[in-house]
Amino acid sequence: MSLPADATGATVVPTGTHTETSTVRDPVADRAGSTDPAELIALGCRILAFQGLAEDILGHISLRDAEDPDMLYVRCRGAGERGLLFTGRSDVHRVPLGGTPSGLPEGTKAPNELPIHQEVLKARLDVRAVVHVHPPSVVAADLGGLELRPIVGAYNIPAMRMALGGIPVYPRGVLVTRADLGKELAEALGDRPACILRGHGIVATGATVQEAVVRALNLDALAKITLSANAHGVPPVLPDEDIAELPDLGGGFNDELVWRTNVAKMHHAGLSSV
Ligand SMILES: [Zn+2]
Repeated sequence: MSLPADATGATVVPTGTHTETSTVRDPVADRAGSTDPAELIALGCRILAFQGLAEDILGHISLRDAEDPDMLYVRCRGAGERGLLFTGRSDVHRVPLGGTPSGLPEGTKAPNELPIHQEVLKARLDVRAVVHVHPPSVVAADLGGLELRPIVGAYNIPAMRMALGGIPVYPRGVLVTRADLGKELAEALGDRPACILRGHGIVATGATVQEAVVRALNLDALAKITLSANAHGVPPVLPDEDIAELPDLGGGFNDELVWRTNVAKMHHAGLSSV
């Protein structure tokens, strides 16, 4: 039997036979529904690390400041760095969209590859969030000459759609520490949702942190299937008639439910308190 919910979504638990009620907060729903930039970025970093897309300290997420178009929030590295899996709110700082950040707390440093976030956000006004991580599966598939093609269907429809539209490759394995390199990368990304950085990692974008993180997860899932399938021959792409049958289930299903599921996993592992 499911308990009724009040207007805030909290479950109303009847107490005794009287009319009084008490509310029990759902910690997963509370966290998953957060709109706090620092909490979203911290949770996103933890999810990416937990799912194996970011080993140890390498990777970051940014979010354009909704109040000030010249600023963004980004995961930085402080004196107490413990890796992406343990990212906290205090690791997230507000930095300018252009140039070198100043005024960060003592011992805190913006990512070396901040120009990835700055130049993608400058080039793509439709993008609010940028993920940069180094998923081994995607790097290995690309280095092995395996293009991420629409080989799956209902297995992962958003991944199939990303591959159908093309997943571009930035062909340089450099550390993107300068604006000119960030611009090159943004050009390679073009108007696509995600891009592979050869011998390096990926960039995934979104209108929200949730969307960018889930796109990164989908890219990783497609790379894993591509690697497995190619071990036994070259898999065919999905036939046109099957592609035509596959619905777009929408962001609420594709992004919000997957995000919430991942927040629940983090909560179960004791890693959701950022
Ligand atoms: Zn990198």
